Formats: sequence, structure tokens, C-alpha cells
Amino acid sequence: MLQQRTLKSLTRAVGVGLHGGQRVEITLRPAQPDTGIVFRRVDLPEPVDIPVGTMAVSDTRMASTLSHGGARVNTVEHLMSACAGLGIDNLYIDITAEEVPILDGSSASFVFLLQSAGIELQNAPKRFVRIKKPVEVREGEGQNVKWARLDPFHGYKLSFEIDFHHPAVDSTGQRVEFDLSVHNYSRDIARARTFGFTKDVEMMRANGLALGGGMDNAIVMDDYKVLNAGGLRYDDEFVKHKILDAMGDLYILGKPLLASYSAFRSGHAMNNKLLRELLAHEDAWEVVTFENEKLAPKGYAQLARAW
Ligand SMILES: [Zn+2]
Repeated sequence: MLQQRTLKSLTRAVGVGLHGGQRVEITLRPAQPDTGIVFRRVDLPEPVDIPVGTMAVSDTRMASTLSHGGARVNTVEHLMSACAGLGIDNLYIDITAEEVPILDGSSASFVFLLQSAGIELQNAPKRFVRIKKPVEVREGEGQNVKWARLDPFHGYKLSFEIDFHHPAVDSTGQRVEFDLSVHNYSRDIARARTFGFTKDVEMMRANGLALGGGMDNAIVMDDYKVLNAGGLRYDDEFVKHKILDAMGDLYILGKPLLASYSAFRSGHAMNNKLLRELLAHEDAWEVVTFENEKLAPKGYAQLARAW
């Protein structure tokens, strides 16, 4: 049986929120089978649980925000991406502010935290959402078109294309594909950082955003070049970060996908719209488990062996 996974022990991290700039502490704790991933705001007078789910997404303007019972938690996508990449099904995330710490701007620190705590296999079958029919969302026309879609696929792969013209990006590639059965999330995707322009950062700060942002947690560019002293971590770090974000946004569904995701200029808003479109078409998907691990797609089965 391909089993659900949680952590072996709890682990903690402290950092700052990218937008609010506030100090925030997170504690990642093991959870029972079929709990899913649940954020818990422990700084409020009464702790409030915010379970991860497509319909809990309440804001997608700068990052993905989840809300429940009057409480919210912002910028969940990098931590969710790490959970997707390592196949964590069940987890409590206690948090002391409304924003997940940005750490180094990628998901590598979360991967490290989760791996250090250890992965526990649980006595319950891992549940997947298998795509049976294509689902697509599309916006704009001509130069402004953007779209995202899910197609049936026995495994999990993502293909992302950006259309982002800048001297530092043009030379490094606009498109990347990640296939869980071929590539390695921790090595190939997790280190890709979020990125921004100095001119946008100034404007965001004037509006009370990006207060915790800087070169130690983002790739920062002017009109011509990358300003970070260490340069890029991958040649195609920009589009790889879009894959990292998409994996996090899609994992908000609550279960891993058996699907091929492809997107052109998509972002947090469109990724959530795609999940809502999927849920609106009950004939387009089903929940499956693998009693026989050997019948599971290679990428997911390999994760099981590695642990
Ligand atoms: Zn991101």
C-alpha cells in the first residue's frame, strides 16, 4: 500500500514575513491520518484552525492566502510546495502571525526542516486526485493571454512558460518542465527563489508591502541585471520558481494530483481558479489509492522507497 505521511517529530523555525516584515515563528507537528494540512493561528486570543483547501483561498494578489473563521494566513505557497515535493499528507502548522516566514525566498529551508524532523509512514492509504478529463482556465487575448490546464497523466508533471522580457531572463530560458518520476524536487526546484524588481519593491514598500523583502530572500533585479552578489542558483531560476509556486498552489487542493499541469503566464490567482474549475466538474476527477505500490506512478512510488 502506498501510505500517507506525516512527520516523526515536531520542528520549529523563526523568520520574518515578506510583506508585513514581522517576526513569526512556525512549529510543524505530526498529525493523524486524513487530517490534511492545517494551519493554526496560535497568536489569537483563541487559537483558530485554518485547514488547507481550495475554497479557503481568499486572496491571491501577491501570494496565496487562506482564511477560516475570521482568521487568515498569507504566503502559504512555498511551505505548501515543500510539503507537495516531499509527499507530506498530514501536518499541523502552528503560526504566531498572519504570514508564513519567507526564510530564503525558496522552499529549500522548509524541505530541510521537514527532512530533519523525519518522515513517518502512516497506516492509511495515500489518496490522490486523478484527472480523468482535461480542465482549463484562460484569460485575456493576444499579447495578454494566460492560461493553465490539467490533463490526465499517470504521474505528476508540470510545464510552465513565462513571457517575461528582461536581459537576465531572456538568456536563461522561458520554459521548464518538471516530472516527478524523472527529476528531483529538492535538488531541481526547491532552491529557486522568488524575484522582484528594485522599482517594484520601492512602490510596494510605499504601500506597506515587501517590508521584510531584500536580497537575502529574493532575486532582485534592476532594468539590466541581477543585483544579488551570488548571482542565480539555477540558470533558469525564474521559471523554476514559477513551478515551485504552482506546486504549492495546486497542493492547496488537499491531495496530490495524478495529472499533467501546463501553464502559460499563470500565477496564484489562476492556479486557484483552475482548482475551482476542477472541483466544479465532478466527472473530470476521482480519488484513488494504490493498494499495490508497484502500480503507483514511478515518482510517487520512489518517494515511498526513499523513506
Ligand atoms: Zn513564490
